[in-house]
Amino acid sequence: MSDYKPMWGKPFYEKIHPTNSIIMACNTRIGRGVVKGILQAAKDTNSPIVFELAKSESDLNGGYTGLTPAKYGKFVTEAAAEVKYSNYAIHGDHIKVGKLDDIPGVKELISAQIAAGYTSFAIDASFLYDESGSNDKERLAGNIAATTEVTHFIEDKIGHKNFGLEVEVGEIGKKDPKTGLVMTTVSEATTFIESLKEQDVHPHFLAIANGSVHGFQYDEHGNPIRQEGIDIQLTSDIGNAIKPNGVKIAQHGITGTPLDIIAKRFPKDVIGKGNVGTNWMTVAWDVLKIFEPELFDTIFKWTSDNYHKTGIPVNETFLKYSKMAIIEYFDDLYAVNETTEHALASTAYTSALMFLKAFNSYGQASKL
Ligand SMILES: [Zn+2]
Repeated sequence: MSDYKPMWGKPFYEKIHPTNSIIMACNTRIGRGVVKGILQAAKDTNSPIVFELAKSESDLNGGYTGLTPAKYGKFVTEAAAEVKYSNYAIHGDHIKVGKLDDIPGVKELISAQIAAGYTSFAIDASFLYDESGSNDKERLAGNIAATTEVTHFIEDKIGHKNFGLEVEVGEIGKKDPKTGLVMTTVSEATTFIESLKEQDVHPHFLAIANGSVHGFQYDEHGNPIRQEGIDIQLTSDIGNAIKPNGVKIAQHGITGTPLDIIAKRFPKDVIGKGNVGTNWMTVAWDVLKIFEPELFDTIFKWTSDNYHKTGIPVNETFLKYSKMAIIEYFDDLYAVNETTEHALASTAYTSALMFLKAFNSYGQASKL
Protein backbone atom coordinates (compact mmCIF):
# COMPACT_ATOMS: atom_id res chain seq x y z
CA MET A 1 0.00 0.00 0.00
CA SER A 2 1.34 3.36 -0.94
CA ASP A 3 2.22 5.83 1.75
CA TYR A 4 2.09 8.64 -0.83
CA LYS A 5 5.76 9.46 -0.43
CA PRO A 6 7.50 10.94 -3.53
CA MET A 7 8.93 8.52 -6.10
CA TRP A 8 12.66 8.29 -6.74
CA GLY A 9 13.57 10.44 -9.71
CA LYS A 10 15.65 7.96 -11.71
CA PRO A 11 12.98 5.27 -12.31
CA PHE A 12 10.33 7.99 -12.57
CA TYR A 13 12.13 9.86 -15.36
CA GLU A 14 13.42 6.76 -17.15
CA LYS A 15 9.89 5.40 -17.51
CA ILE A 16 8.45 8.69 -18.78
CA HIS A 17 11.41 9.54 -21.08
CA PRO A 18 10.30 7.33 -24.01
CA THR A 19 6.86 8.98 -24.08
CA ASN A 20 6.23 11.99 -26.22
CA SER A 21 5.44 14.18 -23.24
CA ILE A 22 6.78 16.85 -20.92
CA ILE A 23 6.61 16.31 -17.16
CA MET A 24 5.28 19.44 -15.51
CA ALA A 25 7.51 20.64 -12.67
CA CYS A 26 5.78 23.18 -10.45
CA ASN A 27 7.59 25.80 -8.40
CA THR A 28 4.74 26.41 -5.98
CA ARG A 29 5.99 29.39 -4.01
CA ILE A 30 2.65 29.70 -2.23
CA GLY A 31 1.63 26.15 -1.37
CA ARG A 32 -1.68 26.51 0.42
CA GLY A 33 -4.47 25.15 -1.78
CA VAL A 34 -2.31 25.37 -4.90
CA VAL A 35 -0.33 22.14 -4.34
CA LYS A 36 -3.52 20.22 -3.59
CA GLY A 37 -5.22 21.54 -6.74
CA ILE A 38 -2.27 20.54 -8.94
CA LEU A 39 -2.09 17.08 -7.36
CA GLN A 40 -5.81 16.55 -7.88
CA ALA A 41 -5.46 17.53 -11.55
CA ALA A 42 -2.52 15.12 -11.95
CA LYS A 43 -4.49 12.35 -10.25
CA ASP A 44 -7.67 12.87 -12.28
CA THR A 45 -5.72 12.82 -15.55
CA ASN A 46 -3.18 10.19 -14.46
CA SER A 47 -0.29 12.56 -15.16
CA PRO A 48 3.21 12.44 -13.68
CA ILE A 49 4.05 15.60 -11.73
CA VAL A 50 7.05 17.19 -10.02
CA PHE A 51 7.13 19.75 -7.22
CA GLU A 52 10.25 21.84 -6.91
CA LEU A 53 11.71 25.04 -5.49
CA ALA A 54 14.96 26.74 -6.46
CA LYS A 55 17.67 27.58 -3.93
CA SER A 56 16.62 31.24 -4.03
CA GLU A 57 13.01 30.21 -3.27
CA SER A 58 13.82 27.70 -0.54
CA ASP A 59 17.01 27.40 1.45
CA LEU A 60 17.92 26.60 5.04
CA ASN A 61 16.58 30.02 6.09
CA GLY A 62 13.41 29.64 4.03
CA GLY A 63 14.49 31.59 0.93
CA TYR A 64 11.94 34.13 -0.28
CA THR A 65 9.03 31.72 0.05
CA GLY A 66 9.62 31.11 3.78
CA LEU A 67 9.77 27.38 3.02
CA THR A 68 12.81 25.45 4.19
CA PRO A 69 13.29 22.09 2.43
CA ALA A 70 11.85 20.41 5.55
CA LYS A 71 8.70 22.55 5.42
CA TYR A 72 8.24 22.14 1.66
CA GLY A 73 8.81 18.37 1.72
CA LYS A 74 6.31 17.96 4.55
CA PHE A 75 3.76 20.24 2.92
CA VAL A 76 3.85 18.45 -0.45
CA THR A 77 3.87 14.94 1.07
CA GLU A 78 0.90 15.75 3.32
CA ALA A 79 -1.03 17.18 0.38
CA ALA A 80 -0.27 14.02 -1.64
CA ALA A 81 -1.59 11.86 1.21
CA GLU A 82 -4.73 13.97 1.38
CA VAL A 83 -5.30 13.70 -2.38
CA LYS A 84 -4.09 10.06 -2.34
CA TYR A 85 -1.68 10.35 -5.24
CA SER A 86 1.88 9.09 -5.41
CA ASN A 87 3.03 9.56 -9.01
CA TYR A 88 5.16 12.56 -8.14
CA ALA A 89 8.72 13.54 -7.26
CA ILE A 90 10.15 16.37 -5.16
CA HIS A 91 13.02 18.14 -6.85
CA GLY A 92 15.61 20.71 -5.77
CA ASP A 93 15.52 23.23 -8.62
CA HIS A 94 18.51 25.50 -9.47
CA ILE A 95 20.85 24.35 -6.73
CA LYS A 96 23.19 27.09 -7.74
CA VAL A 97 26.95 26.82 -7.63
CA GLY A 98 27.89 30.36 -8.63
CA LYS A 99 31.49 29.98 -7.48
CA LEU A 100 33.55 27.16 -6.01
CA ASP A 101 33.16 28.64 -2.51
CA ASP A 102 29.42 27.88 -2.77
CA ILE A 103 30.00 24.11 -2.70
CA PRO A 104 30.03 23.61 1.13
CA GLY A 105 26.75 25.55 1.46
CA VAL A 106 25.26 23.62 -1.45
CA LYS A 107 26.13 20.33 0.27
CA GLU A 108 24.42 21.54 3.44
CA LEU A 109 21.29 22.48 1.49
CA ILE A 110 21.23 19.14 -0.34
CA SER A 111 21.63 17.27 2.95
CA ALA A 112 18.54 19.09 4.25
CA GLN A 113 16.67 18.30 1.01
CA ILE A 114 17.55 14.61 1.31
CA ALA A 115 16.41 14.59 4.94
CA ALA A 116 13.16 16.24 3.80
CA GLY A 117 12.49 13.45 1.29
CA TYR A 118 13.58 15.11 -1.97
CA THR A 119 14.11 12.49 -4.67
CA SER A 120 15.61 14.59 -7.47
CA PHE A 121 18.12 17.44 -7.79
CA ALA A 122 19.17 20.11 -10.31
CA ILE A 123 22.78 21.16 -10.00
CA ASP A 124 23.20 24.53 -11.64
CA ALA A 125 26.86 25.36 -12.09
CA SER A 126 26.25 27.08 -15.43
CA PHE A 127 27.77 30.27 -14.04
CA LEU A 128 31.18 28.58 -13.90
CA TYR A 129 32.01 29.36 -17.49
CA ASP A 130 35.56 30.23 -18.44
CA GLU A 131 35.54 32.64 -21.39
CA SER A 132 39.30 32.27 -21.72
CA GLY A 133 39.18 28.53 -22.52
CA SER A 134 40.21 27.59 -26.05
CA ASN A 135 37.52 24.92 -26.57
CA ASP A 136 34.15 23.91 -25.10
CA LYS A 137 35.68 21.39 -22.73
CA GLU A 138 38.02 24.00 -21.28
CA ARG A 139 35.30 26.63 -21.04
CA LEU A 140 33.02 24.15 -19.27
CA ALA A 141 35.70 22.61 -17.03
CA GLY A 142 34.51 24.41 -13.88
CA ASN A 143 30.89 23.42 -14.48
CA ILE A 144 31.89 19.79 -15.15
CA ALA A 145 34.04 19.59 -12.00
CA ALA A 146 31.44 21.20 -9.72
CA THR A 147 28.56 19.13 -11.15
CA THR A 148 30.62 15.96 -10.72
CA GLU A 149 31.60 16.73 -7.14
CA VAL A 150 28.07 17.58 -6.05
CA THR A 151 26.53 14.55 -7.81
CA HIS A 152 28.96 12.18 -6.12
CA PHE A 153 28.17 13.87 -2.81
CA ILE A 154 24.44 13.15 -3.33
CA GLU A 155 25.19 9.50 -4.17
CA ASP A 156 27.27 9.07 -1.02
CA LYS A 157 24.72 10.83 1.15
CA ILE A 158 21.73 8.84 -0.16
CA GLY A 159 23.64 5.58 -0.49
CA HIS A 160 22.27 4.68 -3.92
CA LYS A 161 21.85 6.14 -7.42
CA ASN A 162 18.08 6.15 -7.70
CA PHE A 163 17.70 9.91 -7.45
CA GLY A 164 16.81 12.11 -10.41
CA LEU A 165 19.45 14.44 -11.78
CA GLU A 166 19.23 17.62 -13.81
CA VAL A 167 22.32 19.56 -14.88
CA GLU A 168 22.67 22.91 -16.58
CA VAL A 169 24.82 24.27 -19.37
CA GLY A 170 24.41 27.84 -20.54
CA GLU A 171 23.06 30.34 -18.07
CA ILE A 172 19.33 30.89 -18.68
CA GLY A 173 18.50 34.46 -19.59
CA LYS A 174 22.19 35.48 -19.89
CA LYS A 175 22.60 38.48 -22.16
CA ASP A 176 25.52 39.65 -24.23
CA PRO A 177 25.39 43.47 -24.40
CA LYS A 178 26.05 43.31 -28.15
CA THR A 179 24.29 40.19 -29.40
CA GLY A 180 21.38 39.77 -26.95
CA LEU A 181 20.46 36.44 -25.35
CA VAL A 182 23.34 33.96 -25.26
CA MET A 183 22.29 30.56 -26.58
CA THR A 184 23.73 27.12 -25.82
CA THR A 185 25.34 25.40 -28.81
CA VAL A 186 24.97 21.74 -29.78
CA SER A 187 28.68 21.22 -29.20
CA GLU A 188 28.53 22.72 -25.69
CA ALA A 189 25.63 20.44 -24.79
CA THR A 190 27.22 17.24 -26.10
CA THR A 191 30.66 18.09 -24.70
CA PHE A 192 29.09 18.73 -21.30
CA ILE A 193 27.04 15.51 -21.22
CA GLU A 194 29.87 13.34 -22.55
CA SER A 195 32.37 14.83 -20.08
CA LEU A 196 30.00 14.13 -17.20
CA LYS A 197 29.57 10.57 -18.43
CA GLU A 198 33.34 10.10 -18.22
CA GLN A 199 33.02 11.08 -14.55
CA ASP A 200 30.24 8.49 -14.01
CA VAL A 201 27.59 11.23 -13.84
CA HIS A 202 24.43 10.35 -15.78
CA PRO A 203 21.82 13.11 -15.78
CA HIS A 204 18.22 12.68 -16.90
CA PHE A 205 17.73 16.30 -17.86
CA LEU A 206 19.83 19.09 -19.28
CA ALA A 207 18.76 22.71 -18.88
CA ILE A 208 19.98 24.89 -21.74
CA ALA A 209 19.85 28.54 -22.73
CA ASN A 210 17.48 28.43 -25.70
CA GLY A 211 15.87 31.84 -25.61
CA SER A 212 13.50 31.54 -22.66
CA VAL A 213 13.65 33.85 -19.68
CA HIS A 214 12.37 33.27 -16.16
CA GLY A 215 9.06 34.91 -15.28
CA PHE A 216 7.17 37.35 -17.48
CA GLN A 217 8.32 39.98 -19.92
CA TYR A 218 6.35 43.22 -20.10
CA ASP A 219 5.02 45.80 -22.52
CA GLU A 220 5.30 49.55 -21.82
CA HIS A 221 2.15 49.43 -19.67
CA GLY A 222 3.57 46.69 -17.47
CA ASN A 223 1.33 43.97 -18.90
CA PRO A 224 2.87 40.54 -19.46
CA ILE A 225 3.46 39.74 -23.13
CA ARG A 226 3.54 36.43 -24.97
CA GLN A 227 7.00 34.88 -24.80
CA GLU A 228 7.73 33.34 -28.15
CA GLY A 229 11.52 33.58 -27.96
CA ILE A 230 12.32 29.89 -27.50
CA ASP A 231 14.37 28.70 -30.46
CA ILE A 232 12.55 25.49 -31.37
CA GLN A 233 15.03 24.39 -34.04
CA LEU A 234 18.03 24.81 -31.73
CA THR A 235 16.15 22.98 -28.97
CA SER A 236 15.44 20.07 -31.33
CA ASP A 237 19.03 19.96 -32.55
CA ILE A 238 20.45 19.90 -29.02
CA GLY A 239 17.77 17.47 -27.83
CA ASN A 240 18.48 15.00 -30.64
CA ALA A 241 22.22 15.23 -30.02
CA ILE A 242 21.95 14.31 -26.32
CA LYS A 243 19.10 11.81 -26.64
CA PRO A 244 21.42 8.83 -27.26
CA ASN A 245 22.82 9.47 -23.77
CA GLY A 246 19.37 9.11 -22.21
CA VAL A 247 19.08 12.85 -21.57
CA LYS A 248 16.09 15.06 -22.37
CA ILE A 249 15.90 18.82 -22.11
CA ALA A 250 14.49 20.58 -19.06
CA GLN A 251 12.73 23.67 -20.36
CA HIS A 252 12.94 26.55 -17.90
CA GLY A 253 10.92 29.74 -17.93
CA ILE A 254 7.67 28.42 -19.40
CA THR A 255 5.11 30.68 -17.70
CA GLY A 256 5.17 33.42 -20.33
CA THR A 257 5.01 30.97 -23.26
CA PRO A 258 1.52 30.62 -24.75
CA LEU A 259 0.06 27.15 -24.14
CA ASP A 260 -0.96 26.75 -27.77
CA ILE A 261 2.70 27.06 -28.80
CA ILE A 262 3.69 24.45 -26.21
CA ALA A 263 0.91 22.14 -27.36
CA LYS A 264 1.59 22.48 -31.07
CA ARG A 265 5.26 23.30 -31.46
CA PHE A 266 7.33 22.08 -28.51
CA PRO A 267 9.27 18.95 -29.52
CA LYS A 268 8.13 16.56 -26.80
CA ASP A 269 10.40 13.78 -28.00
CA VAL A 270 13.36 15.83 -26.74
CA ILE A 271 11.90 18.19 -24.09
CA GLY A 272 11.06 16.02 -21.08
CA LYS A 273 10.53 18.45 -18.22
CA GLY A 274 8.88 21.86 -18.18
CA ASN A 275 9.29 24.18 -15.21
CA VAL A 276 6.28 26.30 -14.37
CA GLY A 277 6.74 28.75 -11.51
CA THR A 278 5.39 32.27 -11.89
CA ASN A 279 2.03 30.94 -13.11
CA TRP A 280 1.23 29.40 -9.70
CA MET A 281 2.01 32.64 -7.94
CA THR A 282 -0.32 34.63 -10.21
CA VAL A 283 -3.00 31.96 -9.64
CA ALA A 284 -2.66 32.63 -5.90
CA TRP A 285 -2.70 36.43 -6.25
CA ASP A 286 -5.77 36.31 -8.55
CA VAL A 287 -7.70 34.29 -5.97
CA LEU A 288 -6.54 36.28 -2.95
CA LYS A 289 -7.48 39.56 -4.63
CA ILE A 290 -11.13 38.43 -4.50
CA PHE A 291 -11.24 36.14 -1.47
CA GLU A 292 -8.81 37.96 0.86
CA PRO A 293 -8.90 41.57 -0.39
CA GLU A 294 -7.41 43.06 2.79
CA LEU A 295 -4.45 40.68 2.77
CA PHE A 296 -3.99 41.20 -0.95
CA ASP A 297 -4.04 45.00 -0.61
CA THR A 298 -1.52 44.81 2.24
CA ILE A 299 0.81 42.67 0.13
CA PHE A 300 0.35 44.93 -2.89
CA LYS A 301 1.19 48.01 -0.81
CA TRP A 302 4.21 46.28 0.81
CA THR A 303 5.56 45.39 -2.63
CA SER A 304 5.07 48.95 -3.98
CA ASP A 305 6.57 50.52 -0.85
CA ASN A 306 9.66 48.35 -1.09
CA TYR A 307 10.22 47.94 -4.82
CA HIS A 308 8.49 50.74 -6.74
CA LYS A 309 10.74 52.69 -9.08
CA THR A 310 9.68 55.84 -10.90
CA GLY A 311 8.64 55.14 -14.45
CA ILE A 312 7.86 51.45 -13.92
CA PRO A 313 4.12 50.59 -14.00
CA VAL A 314 2.83 49.41 -10.56
CA ASN A 315 1.41 46.25 -12.13
CA GLU A 316 4.85 45.25 -13.41
CA THR A 317 6.47 46.01 -10.05
CA PHE A 318 3.90 43.81 -8.35
CA LEU A 319 4.29 40.86 -10.73
CA LYS A 320 8.08 41.06 -10.52
CA TYR A 321 8.60 41.61 -6.82
CA SER A 322 5.52 40.25 -5.02
CA LYS A 323 7.46 37.00 -4.58
CA MET A 324 9.54 38.85 -1.99
CA ALA A 325 6.36 39.46 0.08
CA ILE A 326 5.62 35.76 0.53
CA ILE A 327 7.97 35.28 3.47
CA GLU A 328 6.80 38.58 5.02
CA TYR A 329 3.15 37.42 5.04
CA PHE A 330 3.82 33.69 5.32
CA ASP A 331 1.60 33.10 8.37
CA ASP A 332 -1.33 34.99 6.83
CA LEU A 333 -0.98 33.23 3.48
CA TYR A 334 -1.01 29.80 5.10
CA ALA A 335 -3.81 30.67 7.57
CA VAL A 336 -6.48 31.49 4.96
CA ASN A 337 -9.86 29.87 5.62
CA GLU A 338 -11.32 26.83 3.88
CA THR A 339 -13.38 28.88 1.44
CA THR A 340 -10.24 30.61 0.17
CA GLU A 341 -8.27 27.38 0.16
CA HIS A 342 -10.99 25.75 -1.94
CA ALA A 343 -10.81 28.60 -4.47
CA LEU A 344 -7.00 28.37 -4.57
CA ALA A 345 -7.17 24.61 -5.17
CA SER A 346 -9.89 24.91 -7.82
CA THR A 347 -8.11 27.66 -9.74
CA ALA A 348 -4.81 25.80 -9.60
CA TYR A 349 -6.66 22.64 -10.70
CA THR A 350 -8.04 24.29 -13.84
CA SER A 351 -4.71 25.88 -14.69
CA ALA A 352 -2.90 22.57 -14.16
CA LEU A 353 -5.29 20.78 -16.54
CA MET A 354 -4.37 23.25 -19.28
CA PHE A 355 -0.63 22.74 -18.80
CA LEU A 356 -0.91 18.95 -18.45
CA LYS A 357 -2.92 18.73 -21.66
CA ALA A 358 -0.51 21.02 -23.55
CA PHE A 359 2.42 18.94 -22.22
CA ASN A 360 0.73 15.70 -23.41
CA SER A 361 0.88 14.37 -19.84
CA TYR A 362 -2.60 12.86 -19.66
CA GLY A 363 -2.38 9.13 -18.97
CA GLN A 364 1.42 9.00 -18.97
CA ALA A 365 1.58 8.04 -15.27
CA SER A 366 0.31 4.60 -16.34
CA LYS A 367 3.93 3.95 -17.40
CA LEU A 368 5.11 4.33 -13.79
ZN1 LIG B 1 14.82 27.87 -14.07
